Amino acid sequence: MRHLIISDLHANLHALEAVLDDAAGLGYDAVLVLGDLVGYGADPDAVMDRTFALDPLAIIRGNHDKVAAGLEPADTFNDVARVSIEWTAAALAAGQLSRLAGLPRGPVQVGDDIEICHGSPFDEDYYIFDADDAGRAIALASRPICLFGHTHVPAVFTRTDDPLQHDDGLEDDELRLPRSGPALINVGSVGQPRDGDPRAAYGLLDTARRTIRLRRVEYDVAGAQDRILERGLPPWLAHRLGEGQ
Ligand code: ZN
Repeated sequence: MRHLIISDLHANLHALEAVLDDAAGLGYDAVLVLGDLVGYGADPDAVMDRTFALDPLAIIRGNHDKVAAGLEPADTFNDVARVSIEWTAAALAAGQLSRLAGLPRGPVQVGDDIEICHGSPFDEDYYIFDADDAGRAIALASRPICLFGHTHVPAVFTRTDDPLQHDDGLEDDELRLPRSGPALINVGSVGQPRDGDPRAAYGLLDTARRTIRLRRVEYDVAGAQDRILERGLPPWLAHRLGEGQ
């Protein structure tokens, strides 16, 4: 089965459309959504509609979804995140807010092979950046392939004795998963990449071939920036899209 993996969409419709176009060209059978549909970006309503219209096989909430839905206060958010999530909550209709409130908490298991979470398998809001935390997550994951988001930085962690395989016949952005051991994979952020590359990020996981493609897609960054400024959101949110941070 070929899974389209999207995370941290952050109300960026321009980026989401470009990702879906790219993925449609490559082909997939099912969609997994790792949370943070909203927050920061200017099109929460349209991004939610577009995402739910994909009829995801599995979808979980992110921290921004929770706060927008009123399930948690914005205490842990910095000023810019708080301003944007308050704007988001006010911009969304009651029906959309209750859809956000109804998103399941991760981790969620998808068949025998895959688990999805927003931050980590042990805490949905935890940021996994380094090998120590990745090791903890791998130890606690209940499936061999654990997909996570939240950091907006693409990353793949494996056990050192069972690493990713590189072999001929793979695409440039494609990796062969470990032979038997676990893989902890972050495909990056659709709507607000933070690894210095402004292109939208997403993944294609093929469980039959045991490969993951970490895709990057050019999109209309200026269009997304204009929307943020038009709607009176903090200008930094527009600026950072151009920097990929
Ligand atoms: Zn996020």
